[in-house]
Amino acid sequence: MNILIYLFIILFGLAIGSFLNVLIFRLPEDQSKWARVKRSVCRACNKVLKPLELIPVVSFLIQKGRCRSCNEKLSWQYPAVEITAAAIFLLLTFIHLPFGAVISETSVIFLIRDFFIASILILVFTIDVKHFLILNKVIYPALVVVALFNLYLLDFDLKKILGIIIGALIGFSFFAFQYFFSKGKWVGGGDMKFGAFIGLALGWQGMVTVLVLAYIVGALFAIALLISGKAKFGAKLPMAAFLAPAALLILLYGEYIWSWYFNLMI
Ligand SMILES: [Zn+2]
Repeated sequence: MNILIYLFIILFGLAIGSFLNVLIFRLPEDQSKWARVKRSVCRACNKVLKPLELIPVVSFLIQKGRCRSCNEKLSWQYPAVEITAAAIFLLLTFIHLPFGAVISETSVIFLIRDFFIASILILVFTIDVKHFLILNKVIYPALVVVALFNLYLLDFDLKKILGIIIGALIGFSFFAFQYFFSKGKWVGGGDMKFGAFIGLALGWQGMVTVLVLAYIVGALFAIALLISGKAKFGAKLPMAAFLAPAALLILLYGEYIWSWYFNLMI
């Protein structure tokens, strides 16, 4: 039984990854173009893709990463996002529904919430890396959905709800401060909203740990770029590229990591 669930989750993760790829390509484009193209097409030759060309990962491998009509190279984004989504969904399922555990309603809703949070993190990460953009049409609905999930899962317990509100405020004000202080040079307006999303999703402990992790990795990355001469001092980095992976790590293993971190600090 359990094996079947895990197998289903892998296929489900690949399908969601495939859907995320569509959003990653289409959301940053203008809506009029999006409305015209209803079916999936090759982005080089515009040929409508057949069902066999739309199987996550498998089609990419069979076609050796090229379009069957125009032979143009397909983006690595397709299999990368699909495999990442499937792998994270599988890890989340191991955590919430471990082998042989009794499946409760709460654990299933927890799992669905985490699937949602992981999908948003993958979406924001990929669009920010490609376009230096965090889209309102992604963040606003995501904030509402994750707030509703957490209200339900925290059983309307005021103390716990305060924990996620403080998390959202920490995430938002951390970037708002930098945004106004640097007049938008260090971070973008989207970083504030993304910070609020991570805080609302993971609570204040998760938020603090994500910021520490993201800034350590971000600083090392920036130093490496400076030393190798690939970037000048003051060059802008897509912040979500560091925040999203840190938030994914905390989503998966947060309790272990922040209890270790806060023990270290106290
Ligand atoms: Zn093509």
